[in-house]
Amino acid sequence: MATGFWADETLEAAPQNTNTYSKPSDLKITDMRIAILRDAPMTCPLIRIDTNQGIYGLGEVRDGASKNYALMLKRVIKGENPCNVDKIFRKIKQFGGHARQGGGVCGVEMALWDLAGKAYNVPVYQMLGGKFRDRIRCYADTDTSYDIKEFAERLRKRKEQGFTFLKMDLGIQLLARTPGTLTQPLGGPGRGYESQNVQHMFTGVELTEKGIDMMASFVSQVREVIGWEIPLAADHFGHIGVNSCIRLGKALTKYNMAWLEDMIPWQQTELLKKINDAVDIPLCTGEDIYLKEPFIELAKNHAVDILHPDLATSGGILETKKIGDTIQDYGVPMAMHFAGSPVSCMANVHCAAATENFFVLENHSVDIPWWDNLVNGVEKPIVDKGYIKVPDKPGLGVTLNDEVVKQHLGEGGFFEPTPYWDSDRSHDRTWS
Ligand SMILES: [Mg+2]
Repeated sequence: MATGFWADETLEAAPQNTNTYSKPSDLKITDMRIAILRDAPMTCPLIRIDTNQGIYGLGEVRDGASKNYALMLKRVIKGENPCNVDKIFRKIKQFGGHARQGGGVCGVEMALWDLAGKAYNVPVYQMLGGKFRDRIRCYADTDTSYDIKEFAERLRKRKEQGFTFLKMDLGIQLLARTPGTLTQPLGGPGRGYESQNVQHMFTGVELTEKGIDMMASFVSQVREVIGWEIPLAADHFGHIGVNSCIRLGKALTKYNMAWLEDMIPWQQTELLKKINDAVDIPLCTGEDIYLKEPFIELAKNHAVDILHPDLATSGGILETKKIGDTIQDYGVPMAMHFAGSPVSCMANVHCAAATENFFVLENHSVDIPWWDNLVNGVEKPIVDKGYIKVPDKPGLGVTLNDEVVKQHLGEGGFFEPTPYWDSDRSHDRTWS
């Protein structure tokens, strides 16, 4: 009796505890392929890393970045054991950079974690040390409108959907139709908010008192509709000078903003600190920063109050956890910027679950009806009443729904072969 009982128990347990088709120590990367999603709402290149044992890992290049940032890494990672995530990350991180240039390194890193989790049959958060929470608080990107009543209504609907944190765009384009709101060099195009490639300190664009009053009035009208209890952050101010940032920040103080985001470029630690010291609202930056060091510099100088890495730029899942853990020592919380598919979303969810000072995660896709259908394996809706449940399946916890992905493909097809990227000669050491 007793022998039979244990034998049955062992048989039942076996399929749950061993991955019958993977021997992790013999796993090798054999290929990397791409499928580009469009209108999700961003363009998102999905990565599939194949192995010699039939299992594959999913990752995603940062929204809006070139697939080639990932493909150029194929020759470097082929033949490596994907379970050695940190070793491979240290080998490839020299090929990443700030903003979209970090997209390839980070996308590959996500796919390595997915593979390691599948090979050892554990969710990614568990490999990071376990979780601090079972669900992840989200805020939703909300399209702006020149009609502030309409915009306030959109935010009210977010609250109705269950979101517990809101963010609005509050840019100087809202002032463009009202004379006397902006001062800027006369006569020439490209010196104002249209000049996307001129940094804030160099545009000569400053807000007038009328402009500041008008922007404050927008926020006041939003607060009237959504109430005072829910946090309200603001972003996309436009390329205005440091002193305009300070004057605007002071005018917005009474609306108790959750944060003011990317008022000037993140590289300007001392100027950010100047704004931060003058304004009693949290300042936030970080979505364009690659690797942990600049985050630490901003945190220890208290140049901003909240850091906001985009995991698909900041260095991937483990580097972003390191960012969170390090800035926590300086008393700085970590919000997370995100605008991609459910694949990258789940990479964020595992990292957010495993990082104690995580605050809130962005989502740009709650109005895209097919976004959830891109993947299987997780509970739907993925963002449910403002939260995402942390999945317990191995790796990132999602599989692709091939049919739905194929309906929303951009150029380049569905995981077509990529032999062009198999080999190249380059002596890539960064020291001698
Ligand atoms: Mg932003």
